Amino acid sequence: EAAINRIAAGEVIERPASAVKELVENALDAQARQIEIAYADGGKTLLRVTDDGIGIAAGDLPLALARHATSKIDGADLLNIHTFGFRGEALPSLGAVGRLTIASRAAGAEAAEVTVEGGRMGPVRPAALNRGTVVTLRDLFSATPARLKFLRSDRAEVQAIGEVVRRLAMAEPSVGFTLRDVSGGGEGRVTFRVAPEQGDLFDALHRRLGRVLGSEFAENALRIEGEREGLRLSGYAALPTYSRGAAVAQFLFVNGRPVRDKLLVGALRGAYADFLSRDRHPAAVLFVDCPPERVDVNVHPAKSEVRFREPGVARGLIVTALRHALAEAGH
Ligand code: ADP
Ligand code: MG
Repeated sequence: EAAINRIAAGEVIERPASAVKELVENALDAQARQIEIAYADGGKTLLRVTDDGIGIAAGDLPLALARHATSKIDGADLLNIHTFGFRGEALPSLGAVGRLTIASRAAGAEAAEVTVEGGRMGPVRPAALNRGTVVTLRDLFSATPARLKFLRSDRAEVQAIGEVVRRLAMAEPSVGFTLRDVSGGGEGRVTFRVAPEQGDLFDALHRRLGRVLGSEFAENALRIEGEREGLRLSGYAALPTYSRGAAVAQFLFVNGRPVRDKLLVGALRGAYADFLSRDRHPAAVLFVDCPPERVDVNVHPAKSEVRFREPGVARGLIVTALRHALAEAGH
């Protein structure tokens, strides 16, 4: 049983960055306004995600750690998903691949914590904590040397953690994010920080993109808006003259979820085809929002793939909206 759990867990949690993704998404689902991610040794010895969200009542802590237990949907509601999580797999998986402690305090409740190690849960104990949740994952993969071996250098793992956090920071401009390297112990060193952005959605997003991608992107970004048959597009795309060298700066989100999707990337390229040579990538941060039944996000828990029910509509929406914005800007 424990071995099977570890194998299943390895599908969801491949490296420290995938643990960070799951934990930060949980914090976002819990309506956190401030999220801190601390790591030591590339996240291999320590990951700690602290949020000021709704918390988990002491009595619910064991349930949160049970496989396929989720507070986010009931079985009938699978098509109507508005949260990141809905499978109830992340916490049990993390408890199977490392030493996991969850301390939490829900409004009006006592704080409590529980530790899971090698898939075995200890007792629920009282804890000292403000409202919110602190999830600590120690010694990731120490019980599975084969997986540990596949992790890259601390530097590479830190880079991957940073990418996950920056991507989610773009998706949630109203939330503050802090990334902290605590490898040396103590308070550590802040390596990335953004405060919650104020203002309407486009203003907040524009400011957030300036902080995450740099002011040069923000200054060269065209506001993108469009709608087609129930699919909505919003975001910013850079003028063709904006260059980040060889670096690809394409960030795509479907219903708030970061995705990598060939269809969307192809549409983006198609829209810029007349203005950019093949070896240059248009820079853009685009959000496609649609009723949940129009898109399947359930392809793979860790791969962030999506499948549109009407791919042609999604493609047409992007190409048309981008071409329109480029034309307005004189291209
Ligand atoms: P899922 O996110 O798919 O529901 P998880 O295993 O990630 O599954 O989490 C299980 C449950 O634990 C969640 O449904 C939620 O009720 C609770 N939970 C996890 N993290 C947090 C958090 N940071 N704040 C509040 N509740 C949380
Ligand atoms: Mg989750």
